[in-house]
Amino acid sequence: MNILVLNINHRGQKDFSFKVRHKAYARPLGAIKKNSVTERIYYADKDILNTIKTDFDLIDDKGWYQLYQNKTDQTYWRLNKWDKYQEQFFVRLDTSDNWIEFDSKEFCIDLLRKSRGISDKKCIWKDCKKSSLQGLVFCERHAYEEMGLRK
Ligand SMILES: [Zn+2]
Repeated sequence: MNILVLNINHRGQKDFSFKVRHKAYARPLGAIKKNSVTERIYYADKDILNTIKTDFDLIDDKGWYQLYQNKTDQTYWRLNKWDKYQEQFFVRLDTSDNWIEFDSKEFCIDLLRKSRGISDKKCIWKDCKKSSLQGLVFCERHAYEEMGLRK
């Protein structure tokens, strides 16, 4: 009995690194394991790459991209392959149709805002009313489009 409990704790904690900020720890451990990826898009950091290895099947591999399927909920995800000049993103697709053409730009911009956070100043781009990102003079869209910022 003790051994079983330890196993469950260990498996639950594996997902904690990127679950904690969503208060997932308040859910039963079974739910955490089931929804190990709850956001639409992630930076493919070490934790995500490990999660891909254990919780996803590689379905297709073309050019710069790999198509994955979640073993639990069967959702399709796309990973851009590692390149030293590019940030790696892991994004959930609506379907596996045309998976290479899927445009993830808006999700990338959204992720930029979430990961950087916004400041109390306004973006300096002409006529832009949005808040600038922390430590930057641009909002997430202008940082993405004008600075080429990805993370
Ligand atoms: Zn702006």
